[in-house]
Amino acid sequence: PVDLTSESPLHPRRKSRRIMVGPVPVGGGAPISVQSMTNTLTANVPATLQQIAELTAAGCDIVRVAVPSQDDADALPEICRKSPIPVIADIHFQSKYVFQAIDAGCAAVRVNPGNIRKFDEVGPDICKAATDAGISLRIGVNAGSLDKELYAKYGGPTPEALVASALKEAHMFEDVGFHDFKISVKHHDVITMVETYRLLASKGDWPLHLGVTEAGPAWQGTIKSCLAFGALLAEGIGDTIRVSLSAPPAEEVKVGCKLLEYMGLRPRKFDIISCPSCGRAQVDVIQLASAVTEGLKDVTAPIRVAVMGCIVNGPGEAREADLGVASGNGKGQIFIKGKVIKTVPEDQIVDTLLTIANDIAAQMEADGQVP
Ligand code: SF4
Repeated sequence: PVDLTSESPLHPRRKSRRIMVGPVPVGGGAPISVQSMTNTLTANVPATLQQIAELTAAGCDIVRVAVPSQDDADALPEICRKSPIPVIADIHFQSKYVFQAIDAGCAAVRVNPGNIRKFDEVGPDICKAATDAGISLRIGVNAGSLDKELYAKYGGPTPEALVASALKEAHMFEDVGFHDFKISVKHHDVITMVETYRLLASKGDWPLHLGVTEAGPAWQGTIKSCLAFGALLAEGIGDTIRVSLSAPPAEEVKVGCKLLEYMGLRPRKFDIISCPSCGRAQVDVIQLASAVTEGLKDVTAPIRVAVMGCIVNGPGEAREADLGVASGNGKGQIFIKGKVIKTVPEDQIVDTLLTIANDIAAQMEADGQVP
């Protein structure tokens, strides 16, 4: 098993209760898990399992699948049986699919109370079925489907309105003795989202699933998610995350995993340090950094490779790197831990870096240093 960091170097984690999503612990100091959601038709079992395999390879801990129809519900048993990571069924509108998902062996079910018809009536039965099956639930409150009464009372999906909705459902679950649930209160606006989670975190010890909903295409969505999650995780808030992007789901997982690495909440993997280049640069740093990144994209060993545009400050500035290059006069000074080990012609820089990086990675693997 991967030994993930569970404590933030920036702030003590908020004390939340622990629930289980299949074998993955969420809350109670457990490592922060990364989630994503398939965008295949769930009823297309081979395509869904293929995408789950891709997500797993990218580092996904928990996967969610949408269940909008009977065909999707019927596909759940096989998907749950064959998925290498726990599967959460995402149910809106029809409570009958919640019960089918539980029967199918899903590790958890996400319910959106604002969208489940007569949730007040079926909620206790859902809790009983989840208890009997030993699975957890997620209350997923979304700005777009806020209860009409709360919307009117608070004048829109404000942090207070979203938290009031979450509290109402949480208390309903707890009133029937059900405690194995986490909560999300998603909003598309970063500031509102952060304020909402902060408020919710102050009200109880539920594990919190962080998400900026409808965050946009990869570029904007990555910025929004990193800002919002970064702000909250830096305060110790958040037990599991899902980066939402209008992009292939594996991209969400890559962003989520890197975000946790950079926050010191996951062991660091391969990283590239490259200078922005400036008037001193004697090589195309952007092109060089892209070529090195592409050439080492499959390296999982925690090595840092630096690409610096000139020899003035290059090796010294990148002393923290395991390996790097500083370019000048049509040559590249190759350095290891800040010390120049050789100089190669510019057209051999990329190949030289890739060869040495792969050698270091292989040695780390042989030494058992790769998680
Ligand atoms: Fe400029 Fe050299 Fe610094 Fe790159 S390493 S930003 S080229 S001074």
